[in-house]
Amino acid sequence: MSTIFKAMICNAVVVSAVESKDIVNSAIRIHKLSPVAAAAMGRALTMVALMGKEFKNKEDYLTAVIDGGGPLGKLTVCADGDGHVKGDIENPVAETVVKADGHLDVGGAVGKNGTLTVIKDIGLKQPYVGTSQLVSGEIAQDFAYYFADSEQQPCGVTLGVGLNRKRCTSAGGVWVRILPNCPQELLDKIETVMYAMDEMSYQFEGSTAQEVINRFFGEFQPVFTESSEVCYKCNCNKRKINRIVKSLGKEEAIGIAEEMGHVEVCCHFCGRKYVYDRDALEKLFK
Ligand SMILES: [Zn+2]
Repeated sequence: MSTIFKAMICNAVVVSAVESKDIVNSAIRIHKLSPVAAAAMGRALTMVALMGKEFKNKEDYLTAVIDGGGPLGKLTVCADGDGHVKGDIENPVAETVVKADGHLDVGGAVGKNGTLTVIKDIGLKQPYVGTSQLVSGEIAQDFAYYFADSEQQPCGVTLGVGLNRKRCTSAGGVWVRILPNCPQELLDKIETVMYAMDEMSYQFEGSTAQEVINRFFGEFQPVFTESSEVCYKCNCNKRKINRIVKSLGKEEAIGIAEEMGHVEVCCHFCGRKYVYDRDALEKLFK
């Protein structure tokens, strides 16, 4: 289980942070991710965990699609208002390239010739859809640019995933939003702190998100306003999969069952398999 903490600084800056090691390890286990895929998806899941925390209702839902044209292919991550995230990636075993500075080349694997699209469904007639160009494919910068460009929300984002072979050893993220009333002097100081926030995965090693916020922003006396738990959990269920199978049409579905012995639908987000034999299909299409 991972925990999100949220704090207010001088009523002018909102800081939220999440320690997300368990989320990243769930993603690695489900998708059998290569290290660079784990870093990319881990960062993106960490970000949407923070964004999901902003929803007012449990049913509110967001999907972020990062499509940069790199070897990882399209990366999709989702979060609801109830502390659940999930993700899917086109090429989970993309080859891991290490840069000269020793870091994984996440930007190269994601690619930056493309877009970040965020779809928010908060129960209105139409979901809100925002899109921005990718800046670097390193995920944190891309989200920061998205917020500034598409939601007119100046902010800083820093995300980190630390890996040892195929395990995540530490991970987390910090999201700093500047409110319109923020005085320039405070903004300058916050920017200086943000600039020094490096190697984020190490910052979360053995530290809670609250400790990380205090470590960087303690001098501003942050007032902690909220904390909540978040985990990797898929919301697929039999009812949803029934709908997908029904959309095949009776003839097609029965045809597959006759050829293969059954119809099998595998959820891309959690790997759960739904199997329909001939009898089940007859019942479904009755
Ligand atoms: Zn699922």
